[in-house]
Amino acid sequence: MGLSYSGEVALVTGGAAGIGRATALAFAEAGLKVVVSDLDSAGGEATVGLIQAAGGEAVFVPCDVTRDAEVQALMQQTIAAFGRLDYAFNNAGIEIEQGKLADGNESEFDAIMNVNVKGVWLCMKHQLPLLLAQGAGAIVNTASVAGLGAAPKMSIYSASKHAVIGLTKSAAVEYAKKKIRVNAVCPAVIDTDMFRRAYEADPRKAEFAAAMHPVGRIGRVEEIAAAVMYLCSDEAAFTTGHALAVDGGATAI
Ligand code: NAD
Repeated sequence: MGLSYSGEVALVTGGAAGIGRATALAFAEAGLKVVVSDLDSAGGEATVGLIQAAGGEAVFVPCDVTRDAEVQALMQQTIAAFGRLDYAFNNAGIEIEQGKLADGNESEFDAIMNVNVKGVWLCMKHQLPLLLAQGAGAIVNTASVAGLGAAPKMSIYSASKHAVIGLTKSAAVEYAKKKIRVNAVCPAVIDTDMFRRAYEADPRKAEFAAAMHPVGRIGRVEEIAAAVMYLCSDEAAFTTGHALAVDGGATAI
């Protein structure tokens, strides 16, 4: 069974790299017009270039998701570019190397919460009126398996991803009768720049990361994109308020 999409336009934040880039490419491959957004203009433009080279349609809009005015402008520019918004993948996020909880500091806490929680909240706050006006839509937020349980030495990140799931579930219930679905995707360790920064410097950490997953390897960005594509598709019409672990069995242990 193939996936079908009644909508035409998708927005991806954090689209300059990793999971966001792979998902922007997947939306384009499915025939959707894509707004790629990120802080990183060079990476975002490169994602647009990849989509165009494959025959797809995309524009890059720079945006810092922690700034209300920039997020509002992102939605306005989405409408200006393509006339509507049907699917939003709120994926921009950061992870800062942390010690145990008592070793963390206030600036790390503020930075992580600002991007991972406030960023997702601001994006949804300015996307929902557009989806309401159109009478349908789907939002997928990037949480993490660290949002489903403990993440030792990543307590602030873990708290931020639990919060993403809280925002997701609450919005899903609030807008369910308006034909707007809101879900989260919860990756385990995925091979991206974020992973490489955190693990690759130390081969023991990389081995440990692979062993965390019963399948015996870390995940690929395309495997997260596939989950997002399902959650946005018409076939997921009865799925909302769900936090979908895509984790090689990591949370089954
Ligand atoms: P990445 O670092 O490759 O990409 C993240 C992107 O977000 C970057 O392009 C970055 O420029 C952008 N970004 C950061 N702060 C921003 C801001 N304030 N405004 C706009 N854009 C901003 O990382 P990734 O692994 O692709 O991560 C994507 C998402 O997946 C994040 O939310 C991350 O927490 C989550 N995640 C990643 C993993 C993993 O193992 N890679 C696991 C679980 C969850």
